Amino acid sequence: MLIVQKFGGTSVGDLDRIQKVAERVARTVAEGHKVVVVASAMAGQTDSLLEMAHRLHGNPPARELDLLLSSGERVTVALLAMALNARGVPAQAFTGRQVGIETDALHTRARIERISGERLKVALDQGITPVVAGFQGISPGSDVTTLGRGGSDLTAVAVAAALRADRCDIFTDVDGVYTADPRIVSNARRLERVTFEEMLELASLGAKVLQTRSVLFAMRHGVPVQVLSSFTDGPGTLVTKEDAAMEQVAVSGVTYDRNQAKVTIVDVPDHPGVAALIFGALGEAGILIDMIIQNISHAGSTDISFTVPRADLARVREVTGKIRVDDKPLDVTVADRIAKVSAVGVGMRSHTGVASQMFKTLADEEINIQMISTSEIKISCVIDERYTELAVRALHDAFGLGTAAGAPAGPAA
Ligand code: ADP
Ligand code: ASP
Ligand code: MG
Repeated sequence: MLIVQKFGGTSVGDLDRIQKVAERVARTVAEGHKVVVVASAMAGQTDSLLEMAHRLHGNPPARELDLLLSSGERVTVALLAMALNARGVPAQAFTGRQVGIETDALHTRARIERISGERLKVALDQGITPVVAGFQGISPGSDVTTLGRGGSDLTAVAVAAALRADRCDIFTDVDGVYTADPRIVSNARRLERVTFEEMLELASLGAKVLQTRSVLFAMRHGVPVQVLSSFTDGPGTLVTKEDAAMEQVAVSGVTYDRNQAKVTIVDVPDHPGVAALIFGALGEAGILIDMIIQNISHAGSTDISFTVPRADLARVREVTGKIRVDDKPLDVTVADRIAKVSAVGVGMRSHTGVASQMFKTLADEEINIQMISTSEIKISCVIDERYTELAVRALHDAFGLGTAAGAPAGPAA
């Protein structure tokens, strides 16, 4: 079999752990499989590079930022390839550019457009295990790009798709996808299987165990993905197509996202074209809008609230600051101490009462709901950030997601 094995930041966090990873890869190769390894930067490395950049520049040039951030992954792949060679497993480290990961030019959030993978095929044919730097590619103008936070997952899935690998195994510091973040819900339960659609919602609503775009890519290209622990041997979680059994439970998981902010524009003239103007400008600036609420209008004007990633707030201010409606600037206020809590499950299509259960649970905890949004398989509520953990735990209990009392669960690390 051809297997892509991706190791996250904690899994390659120091030399001992890199040795453990090398041991695992060597074991898979010894079993007769061909392996392509993808690795992240050491845990905390990307954050500390980002912090250094921000100490030198309030808004670091994205091109330079990408060159800087891509260095973390180069360190780990070179070390890992050395560790493999030392064990007698011929291995070669590669940057994104070297294996032909071509992206667009959107620095810090580039999209993969093509993977030639030529050098990977050549290496594999020669019995060499390639170790690929995650999170990075090359723009049409030959500049280094990065694929957004958590982007090594995307590298792994995209490489698996390009090589038509039999499996893409994502090794991390938890032994699978849980019903909620095991760091805050102690009785969270590992899911044996989760559908691509659920995983997509879980990831985009805050469960960072898999990067959202990697799930989308896997879904589109039918890449079989498994989430496994780097530290233990267990069955992990299989991300798979939906089957009838999976609809039997209404809610599969509860997530939270503290990285959002709520923007309110007050007293906007209420006539056709205004929303199109505002959201058109935000869209052109590449800002992802999530929930939108428009109030009932009073005396010809209305309030519009929406949520955006907190990291985009400066750009939201910049873009909205330039907009004029009826020759007047917009009156924009921002609330960044909010969190979005969500319940996700394909079973919601066939079960009723999930929304009311969610609202009642939050009400019982006296948590006020500021915004609500729903799709076929998820319900999200924006609440005060202070109540995030309380809300997640209460919802997890209310939907009966926990393990039986006393059964241990949680991160393996
Ligand atoms: P890596 O560095 O291996 O890519 P990440 O830190 O990106 O790992 O993702 C793993 C983390 O995701 C876990 O440590 C866990 O705290 C968090 N997490 C959040 N929600 C979930 C969930 N539903 N199931 C499992 N892990 C989750
Ligand atoms: N090192 C990058 C990050 O921290 C990419 C990754 O780990 O997947 O976001
Ligand atoms: Mg990750």
